[in-house]
Amino acid sequence: MSSQATLEKIVSLCKRRGFVYPSADIYGGINGVYDLGHLGTLMKHNIRNTWMQSIQTDLGDIIFMEGALLGPEAVWQASGHIENFHDPMVDCMQCKKRYRADDIDLEKACPHCGNTEWTDIKQFNMMFKTNLGAAGSAIAYLRPETAQAIFVNFKNVMSTNRVKIPFGIAQIGKAFRNEITPKQFLFRMREFEQMEMEFFCRPENTGKFFEAWQKIRFDFYQKIGVNQSNLRLRPHEKDELAHYSSQCVDVEYQFPFGWKELEGIADRGNFDLSQHIKHSGKDLSVHDEATKESFVPHVVECSVGVDRLFLTLLFDAYTEDDVEGEVRTVLKLHPKIAPIKAAFLPLSKKISEPMLKLFNEVKKQTGLQLMFDESGSIGKRYRRQDEIGTPVCFTYDFDSETDSSVTVRDRDSLKQERISMDQVERYVKDLLKEG
Ligand code: ATP
Repeated sequence: MSSQATLEKIVSLCKRRGFVYPSADIYGGINGVYDLGHLGTLMKHNIRNTWMQSIQTDLGDIIFMEGALLGPEAVWQASGHIENFHDPMVDCMQCKKRYRADDIDLEKACPHCGNTEWTDIKQFNMMFKTNLGAAGSAIAYLRPETAQAIFVNFKNVMSTNRVKIPFGIAQIGKAFRNEITPKQFLFRMREFEQMEMEFFCRPENTGKFFEAWQKIRFDFYQKIGVNQSNLRLRPHEKDELAHYSSQCVDVEYQFPFGWKELEGIADRGNFDLSQHIKHSGKDLSVHDEATKESFVPHVVECSVGVDRLFLTLLFDAYTEDDVEGEVRTVLKLHPKIAPIKAAFLPLSKKISEPMLKLFNEVKKQTGLQLMFDESGSIGKRYRRQDEIGTPVCFTYDFDSETDSSVTVRDRDSLKQERISMDQVERYVKDLLKEG
């Protein structure tokens, strides 16, 4: 995390520049729920794409799917969520403020009013419950994690994709948790998005894949530009483990509010498939032709929140430079993550036409998100692009009229060089090359 980044600065930049808005803003918002603007939508799309690429390795096939957001009660009974998906809740006896009991020290006074008397701790189920149809007799829940759709579809996926163990099923989609205290902007939301991959393997290979995925997932964050010094892997203590997992390691990021989980990598054993076998009465085991035996595969899960990663990337990229005595706010986002890849800026409106033509041509040829901006001083336009993390700006000036070249300005080093206009398309494509 850059030392200048604070939650307030990130929230303000997100709203000012159209990354993220509080949902239902004109009605005062809704706690823990957010909407994305143009730049936020583009950036989130880039995050999903990089994740989908990163999850495909030589460890085994990865099959993608998208499950429904509503799940019948039976699914959540089998998964253990109805019984176990609780957070401990406590209220201050004086000001009635509500806290997650594991978030505060009950030996100390209420941080809000200073009172020291607390209610008993109650367990609060975090799932959103709803009723289906006009009679409303069937109960359903908005899913609190995407993973169950993967386990429930295990047989469908295996029989329609000709895959063999080991292989993974991956999914990106919304999850809903009625968090007691949504906070820290996109860090703890009530409606959020997860990217989850369940890797199915033979029981004796779980340890090997658990190790391998830790390395792959840790390396992913570095590849998309996250500072290594802000990342660490932290194994869970036994008393922290979720009801379904026997071992778990978190990829943690150093936020301004401390080291926190970014991604969980868990050994879920065969808990979920076994539960669904028991509750549905269906056979979800696999048959090994070589050994002629059937077994219920074990699972290594990699699970990260898109929004939490979005926030992480903003914190990590946010920088305030001193440029000739002025503060420059810049998001040093990896080009693959940056919502806009390049800006096209004619120095004066009088000579905007050739630049507009180049912009449209490069946009058409590359299919990438680019921006054309001709209003305001060139310094102001550079600052606007820096603040949204655009890696390069091309400027067309009066010399361009005769030498058919433009100036390229690099966002991070501020270096400028001249390149021929017919090189611009290649230059933009090269920004996204591996390596
Ligand atoms: P935490 O301890 O922070 O509540 P968790 O252990 O309950 O997280 P998991 O169930 O492992 O989280 O969810 C996997 C990932 O989903 C997390 O690592 C995080 O990135 C994301 N996530 C979970 N809850 C939220 C939330 N309320 N808002 C945003 N992202 C979330």
